[in-house]
Order: sequence, then C-alpha cells, then structure tokens
Amino acid sequence: MTGLKNLPSISIIDDGSASNGAAAMPRAGDRDAGGGGGESAESKLIIVGSGPAGLTAAIYAARANLEPIVIAGYAPGGQLMITSDVENYPGFPEGVQGPELMALFRQQAERFGTRFVDLDVDRVDFGQRPFRLWAGDVEYRAESVVVATGASALWLGLENETRLRGRGVSACATCDGFFFKNRKVAVVGGGDTALEEATFLTKFADEVLLLHRRDSFRGSKIMQDRALAHPKIRVRWNTEVLDVLGENSVDGLKLRDTVSGEETVEAAQGLFIAIGYKPNTDLFRDWLDLDGQGYLVVRDETGSKIDGVFIAGDVHDHRYRQAITAAGDGCRAAIDAERWLEAQGITESATASAW
Ligand code: NDP
Repeated sequence: MTGLKNLPSISIIDDGSASNGAAAMPRAGDRDAGGGGGESAESKLIIVGSGPAGLTAAIYAARANLEPIVIAGYAPGGQLMITSDVENYPGFPEGVQGPELMALFRQQAERFGTRFVDLDVDRVDFGQRPFRLWAGDVEYRAESVVVATGASALWLGLENETRLRGRGVSACATCDGFFFKNRKVAVVGGGDTALEEATFLTKFADEVLLLHRRDSFRGSKIMQDRALAHPKIRVRWNTEVLDVLGENSVDGLKLRDTVSGEETVEAAQGLFIAIGYKPNTDLFRDWLDLDGQGYLVVRDETGSKIDGVFIAGDVHDHRYRQAITAAGDGCRAAIDAERWLEAQGITESATASAW
C-alpha cells in the first residue's frame, strides 16, 4: 500500500496566491465534468492529457494508489477520437473504433479511482513543488506531473477535408492504409512523413499520387530516392489541393498547378495529409526543454529537466506516433513517477508488485 505524506492542506486557490481558506473556495469536483463533487484539487500525481499515453499512465498510477487526477482537455481522448477503425491495437482482433477504444481506456482508469477534469490546462507553474496547474478557475497542485498532451496533425484547412475525415481523408497511413487496397490514393506533403506514407501506401493502393507544393522535396535523400523509384508512386510537383470531392467518401481532388495556375481534377479514393505535426507543448515551453521541432526532450527514459515532471507519448515522440507506443510510454512514465514519489518519501512503500 502507498500513502500520501507531506502534502499541504490547501485544496483550491482561485486567485493565484496561496490560501488555506479552502472551505470557502470552489472545489475541483464542483467544476470538473468527470470527477465527483467536493474532491480535492491536489494529488500526488496529475496527468495532463487523455490520449493513450495519459490514460495508461492513469491506470497504472491509480492501481498504485496514487489517486491521480487527469486534466483531460475540453476535447478528451486525443487523436484517436478522430480515427474511425483501429485495427492495429492488440487485443481487438475485429478492430475497434477510435472513440470506443478511448472510452474503454477511460473506464478502466476510472475503475481504479482516477478523477477526470474535462478542461484544458490554461497555465502551469513548475517552479517549485507542489507543481501548480490551472484549469478553468481552479488551481490544481501535484507532487508529480505526467505531461501527455500529444501532438496534433496539421491539416490543409479545407472545409471538405474536415467533412470527409475518417471517410477517405486521413493523417495516418499506418492506421488507415489497409482500407485502400487496390484503390488510388493521394498524399500531400514533401517531407519525410509524406515520403514514408506514400511508400507505405504502395503496399495497398494501386497508385499513389504524391502532391507537393514545390518542385523539390524537403525529406531525406534516401526516402526521396525510394519514393521516386517506386513504380506505383507518381509525383505531381508544384501542386496544391484546392478541394476534396465526394459526398459520403472521397472520390476526387481538385488541384491547382502553382506555376501555371491550371486547375485539374484527379480521381482518388483516399487523401493522406502529411504536412507535419504540431506537438502540444506551448504550455510547457517556459519550463521544459523543447527540441528544434518543438517536441519535449526526455531525460533518463521518461523524465524531464525538472525532477518530478515526466513525459509520455507523442508530445515527445515524433518517430512512432502509435496508440500502442504512446500507451507503453504512459505506463513507463507512471512507473517512473511512482518510484520517484517513493524516493522522495511522498509515498510510503515499494509497490513494484502492485503494477
Ligand atoms: P516537415 O515539416 O519536414 O515537412 C512538411 C511538408 O509538408 C513540407 O514538404 C511542406 O512543404 C509541406 N507543407 C507544410 N504545410 C503545407 C500546406 N499547408 N500545404 C501543402 N504542403 C504543406 O514534416 P514531416 O512530418 O514530414 O517531418 C517532421 C520531422 O520528422 C522531420 O524532421 C522528419 O525528418 C522527421 N521524420 C522522420 C522520419 C524517419 O526518419 N523515418 C519519418 C517521418 C518524419 P515545404 O517543403 O514547401 O515547406
């Protein structure tokens, strides 16, 4: 068993300054959408983010009696909420819908006592412990934090691209490529992601159209060579997508030549957007190290430059970006957080067998 030691008695502070007048203050449970009323706004562990990484961290932390709070965001569930069929998550031989998978993760975390706050974190202060995080008007305090805010795929911003997302429009060839057997698909982008996705899609599609807005790729030479040499890949240089065509699913693309201005329509049943990702790190840039692409930098497996702040999932991982790898990362971060809390004397006893 673990137990809470040394936490201050403050529950909620609404003006940014320390106060012990918790009774008169709003309580976290009054404001959250998932937790019970009257819950404390402090915890041994707060997890920010509710994709596979955050929710797996919550399951592990809750089972180790850390009584975690997950600040899940206004749109909880992460990128899987905009994915339809997930066929590569182990344990679901018939596949599972992305939102259903996330609902199951969340039920499992709740079963062991995780509390959820369905709000975005507005700001954090990691300057000293307990760490402080503000969501809505409530100040949350934690002895340790797991940052699992993920990354967001960038989209072109077209109305029909949004409307047909999950119905031919995708940002993940690994997830959705399988559905395009013997079809013609297009990939937008000129970086390594686009080159990799185009090459991957040749396993399924009859033809892969690679649409790039300039006349040279940004991606690595080896990936360029591989894509350019592939008989199924046809590159259209200097090409931008003006519109995605189709009623209930994608059946074509309206394209424009950026040099001549000529507009054409290409038939295609799939459109993969591969124009980069934006890691959701804005909240943390004053506190944690970011790499050149804006991803968080991990130290010693899941740690960060601040003791007690751990990192999991796509917010640092621009290589694998899979639900299963994010989930694995969440598990590792929770175990590291639990061991760290124990080493600080904040939790009482070794729980290596509790996982
Ligand atoms: P990048 O930022 O490298 O490339 C994005 C591409 O999308 C660019 O070619 C860019 O065009 C294009 N683009 C951006 N915005 C638009 C838009 N609105 N409309 C049309 N095209 C647009 O992102 P990646 O995701 O490809 O790669 C990110 C990082 O991850 C890179 O460092 C990459 O090397 C790495 N990576 C490595 C892999 C590997 O090693 N296996 C696999 C995948 C990624 P333009 O060139 O004109 O700016």
